[in-house]
Amino acid sequence: MRIRAQVAMVMNLDKCIGCHTCSVTCKQTWTNREGTEYVWFNNVETKPGIGYPKHYEDQDRWKGGWILDRKGRLTLRSGGRAKRLSRIFANPDLPSIDDYYEPATFDKDLLVSAPAGLTDTPVKRPRSALTGEPMAITWGANWEDSLGGQSGQDDPSLARMATKVKLEFEKTFMFHLPRICEHCLNPACVSACPSGAMYKRAEDGIVLVDQDRCRGWRMCVSACPYKKVYVNHATGKAEKCTLCFPRIEAGLPTICAETCVGRLRYLGIVLYDEDAVLAAASVPDPQDLLDAQRAVFLDPRDPGVERAARDAGMPDEWIEAAKLSPIRKLISEYRIALPLHPEYRTLPMVWYVPPLSPVLDAAGAAGRDDADADDVFHTIRDLRIPVEYLAELFTAGDTEAVAGVLMKLAAMRSYMRSRTLDGTVAQDLLDRIGMTAEQVEAMYRLLAVAKYDERYVIPAAHAKDAAALDAQAAGHDGCALDCEGGPGMSDPFHLSARP
Ligand code: SF4
Ligand code: SF4
Repeated sequence: MRIRAQVAMVMNLDKCIGCHTCSVTCKQTWTNREGTEYVWFNNVETKPGIGYPKHYEDQDRWKGGWILDRKGRLTLRSGGRAKRLSRIFANPDLPSIDDYYEPATFDKDLLVSAPAGLTDTPVKRPRSALTGEPMAITWGANWEDSLGGQSGQDDPSLARMATKVKLEFEKTFMFHLPRICEHCLNPACVSACPSGAMYKRAEDGIVLVDQDRCRGWRMCVSACPYKKVYVNHATGKAEKCTLCFPRIEAGLPTICAETCVGRLRYLGIVLYDEDAVLAAASVPDPQDLLDAQRAVFLDPRDPGVERAARDAGMPDEWIEAAKLSPIRKLISEYRIALPLHPEYRTLPMVWYVPPLSPVLDAAGAAGRDDADADDVFHTIRDLRIPVEYLAELFTAGDTEAVAGVLMKLAAMRSYMRSRTLDGTVAQDLLDRIGMTAEQVEAMYRLLAVAKYDERYVIPAAHAKDAAALDAQAAGHDGCALDCEGGPGMSDPFHLSARP
């Protein structure tokens, strides 16, 4: 067992109001530069919808993530090493600027510099931020906001569902999905990089790009199934979400979390067994990936795990932070957070509490009482449309797993209502979801009223420990799986060693 710590995030989707504050503050901090005009390390998309870049979830088109080969071995969907190298100068699986959007700016100067006495009022016309030429704005990173773009029917997750569902979805539900890099445990971007420029930090699992080593091959862009690596067109090099590592190292939350209006983001440490990652990512049935990834996580409250972490050189402060971690509670203790598209097999580390509100809306529309847990339970069982869609996003289509989480959330809501209004304890609800009163009240506190230091439990970085952990990493300079028998490919040309 090799114990590692990972900084991870959970977002509670019921609380996202789609205000895009997170996207804007992230952009102001990280991508407010020439070459990154079209880049949103954090974006918020409306679901159902085709997202940013368009159709990024269609892996038949983009060949992102991992699949199992005929022998059941994990391999990049973009092909084996030889195939990827044969395409190194002409990669057909790259999104173009049209798949993102052409960023625009406006002739604002005209508003103040136009001569007096014009018969027509001057207007600020859009110009391409890339070419400076006049342009018509026809798409954007947020074009589908609140289904305004009406392109949801092309959503790849809906395409896997029945026709009746596709035809009904707009009457039924929508919600916002904020996305950043997943800082995966099994990052396809790292394994696809021919230069060894993409790497996963040993001390906290943050995935970064070494700008000095990046040669601009763009294999990472294709390999990332979430399309969260971008090319800076001014430098020709890859850039991505850094999980605000300078802030994390100072014990502070990321900018997107700090400024989130809905206070729906949680940040903390999870401990995991690096030796178990490859087997977890390789389970044959995609619907088993959720449990397989949960099984990779270690409980820091277990004395054996704590001892092993100490033996591995992990600082006490990190172990204590792992015990208090809101991420551990939401993923492993309450089991209400789910990974986005586990079927990509990258073992993502930004998880989501799925939204209950689409189901409540459906209950109300069906004439049921959305305040009654029984009615909501029945709605979850009967009105399958939102549940099936959420299952496509979070459990590789396993509707029972999503329904189980939604029932916990519905039961918590009803339990707290009767506890607060009537002073009664709804023991039957607790029995139905298999949780204790203490657990449900603690879960409610974390989801509803948790303060800053409960939502973000981040130890400050220890530079000397990081160096020691790096040295322990399995003889590689890229990904934990870039080792003998692993599926990675860190530096086949030894380009990084060249002057
Ligand atoms: S989500 Fe992030 S870590 Fe995962 S493959 Fe994409 S860029 Fe890499
Ligand atoms: S700031 Fe928070 S509430 Fe607003 S869009 Fe971002 S995640 Fe949602």
